[in-house]
Amino acid sequence: MEQRSSACPLDCPDLCGLTVSIDNGKVIEVTGDRRGPLTDGFICGKVRKITDHLYGDDRVLHPMIRTGAKGEGKWRQATWDEALDLVASRISEIRAKSGSSAILPYHYGGSNGWLTEGALATRFFRRLGSSNLDRTFCAAATTAATRGLYGVMPGVALEDYAHAKLIVLWGVNPSATSIHLVPVIERAREAGAKLVVFDPRRTPLARRADLHIPVRPGADLPVAMAIINALFERGHADRAFLAEHAAEVDELRKRAAAWSLEAAAREANVDVSLLDQFVELYAASSPAVIRPGWGLERNRNGGSAVAAALALPAVAGKFGVRGGGFTMSNGDVNWTVTPESAIAEPPTSQRTLNMSQLGKLLVETTDPRIECLFVYNCNPAATAPDQRRVIEQLRREDLFVVVHEQVWTDTAQLADVVLPCTAFLEHRELRRGYGTMRMFDSPAVATPPGEARSNNALFGALLERLGLVRPGDAMTDDELVAKTFAESEHGAALKAQLDKGTIAEPPHGSHPLAFVDTFPTTPDRKVHLVPESLDREASGLYVYKPDPRTDEFPLAMISPALSTQISSYFGQLRTAPAALEMSPADAAARKIVNGAPIRVWNAQGEVRCIAKINADLREGVVLMPKGLWRKHSRNGYTSNALIPPGLADLGGQAAYNDARVQVALD
Ligand code: SF4
Repeated sequence: MEQRSSACPLDCPDLCGLTVSIDNGKVIEVTGDRRGPLTDGFICGKVRKITDHLYGDDRVLHPMIRTGAKGEGKWRQATWDEALDLVASRISEIRAKSGSSAILPYHYGGSNGWLTEGALATRFFRRLGSSNLDRTFCAAATTAATRGLYGVMPGVALEDYAHAKLIVLWGVNPSATSIHLVPVIERAREAGAKLVVFDPRRTPLARRADLHIPVRPGADLPVAMAIINALFERGHADRAFLAEHAAEVDELRKRAAAWSLEAAAREANVDVSLLDQFVELYAASSPAVIRPGWGLERNRNGGSAVAAALALPAVAGKFGVRGGGFTMSNGDVNWTVTPESAIAEPPTSQRTLNMSQLGKLLVETTDPRIECLFVYNCNPAATAPDQRRVIEQLRREDLFVVVHEQVWTDTAQLADVVLPCTAFLEHRELRRGYGTMRMFDSPAVATPPGEARSNNALFGALLERLGLVRPGDAMTDDELVAKTFAESEHGAALKAQLDKGTIAEPPHGSHPLAFVDTFPTTPDRKVHLVPESLDREASGLYVYKPDPRTDEFPLAMISPALSTQISSYFGQLRTAPAALEMSPADAAARKIVNGAPIRVWNAQGEVRCIAKINADLREGVVLMPKGLWRKHSRNGYTSNALIPPGLADLGGQAAYNDARVQVALD
């Protein structure tokens, strides 16, 4: 048995350092290490049980080619050469007949860092001239809002929450999705910090909070605007900070003036005294940090809501002190290195298609129609909105579907060719945190089971088969890493840190102070409170679109993350059936008891599952977690069958929380 160091690249802000016990190439145990202060020696249950994922019955071990009808489950094992030849020849045929843009790569973060998220895959599809994919399941609206207001300025480091006197969690549940933030918050509270939670659920931290404000889903925008308005009206705005560091102050104030606390409280269906208390607490507290989560963006007003929440620390002058300001994603804002130089192929001008509209795209896109869907790091049959249509289209016999996957996902079940993929620990990975501001370079520490190959090995082979390799191309992981650092600003210094201890900090350190060490990267280095580009994109930034509920579909359905999964990753291990959580009042009104079989439906589709009565959920809101697989419900559909086709106001973001549904006993 030997112990090796690694890091967790899963889609989680914490980026834990790991100690992996290996026996004869097999992972035996994974624990947290202490190289980064946030991990502090412990990790979540998901990764403690990673061996169930790596060596479970659902692992794809060999290339497989479909022999029966789509989704029938009939396969034959193939060699890698045979499978690659088939994929390469079908791609060549489609290119010759319909043009390269008939091919759509479909991918997301998966469990990946830079090396496997899109190094040779990106080069392959760019050189092929395929359609481009706009990745909008998550963080699209928040990224647009943050960039519009602050450019790429880093936020408050999670470790620095320990210094805060007020911590505001808005649409985020760290107990499930960022567990290492919880002890930091607890330490801050022991030192006297107050905690405020905006969430329609009474989350574990909301239960312990000084204020819990259960805003109705989609109404965060009027709440944030009313708070801004009250800060100005009550003389709490930091005029000196705004004069020196902000632009469009008067315009923001004008737009916020449309919302009184009373009007916002009515729209959010909360007691106005909660908003009033929050205004005074926020104005009086420093350092005060706001952590908006991804729950805030998943609706028609999502981009504007995030922008308004991010405007608060500027209006109230909360920057410039340790533990004061906001934290959005710290992922791509802190590093001067990018894998672009190693990709060695510029982005193309081919059409860009929004991943959140996959069902519609597969039906309506013409000139050319999509004939090949190449899926990697993603499971759209379980995770894309409009699930009914997505599944219908994936079954199309004239759509060639290739899936490179670790386990037999719902999407793999509907493919023509399934290729076995390595999991992290089985390939080298370069990963930077998007909560903690650190980077790890993790070597492969375990032997891949069966014939699994990494994304780079797969796309390297396809580049060669299709004659797309050019002299000087970096082809191996080692060459890609070397080129990434060699050709990036500060790359040599970062590489030197990684070589010493496999952990690196960005050039400005791992917890810079906003407006002291770093500034907005807007052209004038100011925060832009009503950026013209966002105003145009949203057809009016901060303009509220009312709740889409109707008498027929009165309940707002949210689909937050499970603590046991990363979106649909690990879903094969879940044995509990799909459940819709309901408040006791909503359940009683429908004569529904805990565990009863129910149907949940709207114009988009229907899910047949069981009821779970949850007294921590506010009336009018129901919850079905994201990441469930088709096997979890009685009719093969999950919450994504109920998501409307509309998008958020910024970034092409999927509006998962705009589902309005009805529920009845089944
Ligand atoms: S999923 Fe998050 S908490 Fe769990 S090990 Fe990975 S980084 Fe740490």
